[in-house]
Amino acid sequence: MAKGVAASQGYGIGQVIIIKEASLDFQRVTISDVEAEKKRLADALDVFMEKTQAMADDMKERIGEKEAEILEGHILMMQDPEMTGQIEGAIENEHINAEAALDQVCDMFIQMFSSIDDEMFQQRATDVADIKTRMLKILLGVEEVDISAVPAGTVLVAVDLTPSMTAGINNQNVVGIMTEVGGKTSHSAILARALEIPAVLSIDGIVGKVKNGQTVIVDGTEGEVILEPSAEEIDAYTAKRAKYLEDKKLLEKFRGKASQMASGEQVELVGNIGNPNDALKVVECDGEGVGLFRTEFLFMDATSIPSEDEQFEAYKEAAKNLDGKPVIIRTLDIGGDKAIPYLGLETEENPFLGYRAVRFCLDRKEDIYKPQLRALLRASAFGNIRIMVPLVTCVEEIRAVKAMVEELKADLDEKGIAYDKEIKVGIMTETAASGVIADLLAKEADFFSIGTNDLTGYTMAVDRGNAKVAYLYSAFQPAVLRSIKRIIECGKKEGIMVGMCGEAAADPMLVPVLLAWGLDEFSVSPTSILATRKVMSQWTMEEAKEVADKVLTFATEEEVVAYLKSVAKA
Ligand code: PEP
Ligand code: MG
Repeated sequence: MAKGVAASQGYGIGQVIIIKEASLDFQRVTISDVEAEKKRLADALDVFMEKTQAMADDMKERIGEKEAEILEGHILMMQDPEMTGQIEGAIENEHINAEAALDQVCDMFIQMFSSIDDEMFQQRATDVADIKTRMLKILLGVEEVDISAVPAGTVLVAVDLTPSMTAGINNQNVVGIMTEVGGKTSHSAILARALEIPAVLSIDGIVGKVKNGQTVIVDGTEGEVILEPSAEEIDAYTAKRAKYLEDKKLLEKFRGKASQMASGEQVELVGNIGNPNDALKVVECDGEGVGLFRTEFLFMDATSIPSEDEQFEAYKEAAKNLDGKPVIIRTLDIGGDKAIPYLGLETEENPFLGYRAVRFCLDRKEDIYKPQLRALLRASAFGNIRIMVPLVTCVEEIRAVKAMVEELKADLDEKGIAYDKEIKVGIMTETAASGVIADLLAKEADFFSIGTNDLTGYTMAVDRGNAKVAYLYSAFQPAVLRSIKRIIECGKKEGIMVGMCGEAAADPMLVPVLLAWGLDEFSVSPTSILATRKVMSQWTMEEAKEVADKVLTFATEEEVVAYLKSVAKA
């Protein structure tokens, strides 16, 4: 048995498939048989064409024509004698192996294209780099696992799963996930929960401990994996899984009900999403709106900055899917653990403390922030959209965003383009500073949403994905609890809505405390909506207040957790 972070609940029993980032290192060697080497190249090209066409067809079906065209463009490039002729020429004239010839010619084209200051040529350079990688994989015989097409009953094992890898996962086939890095609030964990796939992350050296095809058990509830389960263990976990699924069914009785306490106090219970399609999942899970649309996923799933129109369509679709219910859309929150390769940002020594989120956006007004804010304003004519600014640390940031919104509104007015004139602009309170100056920020922002994932990290000065300091990363730390309470109080004093969209909003131990402190809105992963509604229904305000008062008397996280466990309702 091995332990890790319980990142997504449930029990998975299945066969391992290891996902590895393979090395593409090769030696430049002199070859004697030129014809044989040219044949190797020709064979690799055939495989490349076939694979790329299949990928394009699949993309056309699943995503759209436009995205497929990029891949079809790659085929055209490799059919161009200008390119392939030069690679063959290098083999013939310099007597070098196909890998070296490909590398040399592709690099020449990449350099040529990237030296031209034109977006189209820059894109060509990216295309050639991509082609080179895929051709090298074929020539070197590096096996690539297509995550979206793994067989049913697969448990994915990897050092880390990047958000784009996780996005390709199909929960019909994948029954469990195990990784060596990542915490409860890493984006792969959030996506695993959205897909309802049991996941245990941060398991020490797991990739080296398993073999492809081996049967394993993933216990995402306890954060344990069993690598060589006995027949009895398989039976026991099969029963646990059945019970888990049965309990989930029982939650159905909370569907269609108000989100309220046993004593009648109502709150808003909404969902967190990463794309417009997820908005349908919120509806399906009986959510009352969206409390956090993480727009960075639109950027991460693309190969270049999504245009204003593309963004407009996505935001409009999300708003329409929610049919008049509130949809809080957060402006681009990149940096930290969310990288976007095509933005070409420099690697930073302290990415979580660096050039990210609203800081980055305010520095890139023309090409990034204005198009996004304009798209949001235009989409607000089609539903109940609110704008949310991430990682705010000082009053100047929210003022700057609000001023930009006003400027864009005036421009839309001039052009006669419709938008919601009363659109609210709120902030995520997720930094230590925002907790301390919540009183000042509450006078500027139209609403607060507490991002406990980051608030915990920044308050405790702890990296949210680092297993070595995970013991400090807890929303039950007295410092974090005090910050949450203060943010709610300051928001309420100024009469603005205070929500929470960090993972803590769905923690059954914290829900009564948050209700007692007066949190107005709980935004949770869609699959946690009914379970959270159930917890709310179990408490009266009087009981919750008693617990909330008591919680503040403890000096350590351990005492807080022990106490909340002792009063938790089944
Ligand atoms: C948070 O920090 O709590 C949050 C909701 O934002 P993210 O997890 O996207 O950083
Ligand atoms: Mg955050």
